[in-house]
Amino acid sequence: MDLKELFGENKICLSLEIFPPKRSQGGIDAIYQTLDGLKEVRPAFISCTYGAGGNLADNSTCDICSIIKDKYHIPPIAHLTCLNNSKADIDLILSRLKSAGVNNILALRGDRRPDVEPRHDFSYACELISYIKEKEPGFFISAACYPEGHPESDDLEQDIDHLKHKVDCGAEHLISQLFFNNDDFYAFRDKCAAKGINVPIEAGIMPVTSKSGILRMVSMCGASIPSRLAKLLNRFEDNPKALADACIAYAINQIIDLIANDVDGIHLYTMNKPDVAARIFSAVDAMR
Ligand code: FAD
Repeated sequence: MDLKELFGENKICLSLEIFPPKRSQGGIDAIYQTLDGLKEVRPAFISCTYGAGGNLADNSTCDICSIIKDKYHIPPIAHLTCLNNSKADIDLILSRLKSAGVNNILALRGDRRPDVEPRHDFSYACELISYIKEKEPGFFISAACYPEGHPESDDLEQDIDHLKHKVDCGAEHLISQLFFNNDDFYAFRDKCAAKGINVPIEAGIMPVTSKSGILRMVSMCGASIPSRLAKLLNRFEDNPKALADACIAYAINQIIDLIANDVDGIHLYTMNKPDVAARIFSAVDAMR
């Protein structure tokens, strides 16, 4: 399916992100259980991360995307980072994706890691996007965006200029970093429109269900925690069930508000937890 068809007036694209299970967690076999649960929520597509959290050794993104497509008949998006890959590495991955019939890529730079020397063929995601578009123009390219600004950037306007460049290089769809305050997303969306970014922007929503999980996540991605969410975390931190319920309700309220405000799509960071994704999507099912 052409992912462009998923967006348009009066259409809400509800999509999911998963990550390759570590070998210690059962490796690729463990993904079937996750996908069995996730298929019930009828996502428009499922994206699979690549080397996130430094997990490069266990990488099975291409294999998992093939499973999503061939066994579950759901369009996949394969994440692909470039900072720690040479052009030859990227060529190999593109050819594997192409032979597997996986035609959608989320083209990323990847995080700088102090313990890994970058490969120097690519410095920014825009270079990967241009490279893929030139080598293999048949791929549909998505890119990442940051409603509160990328953590390395202290100037949101400049960050959005770089985002516009990614779109000019060939990104046809954007998925946002997680955020907890919808007003940040609306302000960002307005700024993007003002700069002529006119591709669909999906809102990244992460239903973190523990206080330590939320704090770890925001320390990595720089998202801020609004006081309404901070109060929930403090009130229920010693009651995991209540905290999970409160965080899921928070995510549902965020999504309903986004849909009411004409968001192009919701990309749910599932953390490979189908039960949480099912609770959230069933609450907004009639709004698709
Ligand atoms: P870029 O777009 O290259 O931007 C990185 C920084 O450089 C920004 O501050 C930007 O303003 C600046 N910049 C961009 N272009 C230029 C330029 N031409 N000149 C100067 N400065 C520039 N990481 C993983 O390892 N694996 C994953 O699977 C993964 N999936 C992700 C999915 C989503 C939806 C998101 C939002 C992030 C994901 N990440 C993943 C994290 C991502 O790799 C990091 O946030 C990384 O630090 C930046 O990647 P990028 O593609 O946004 O980089």
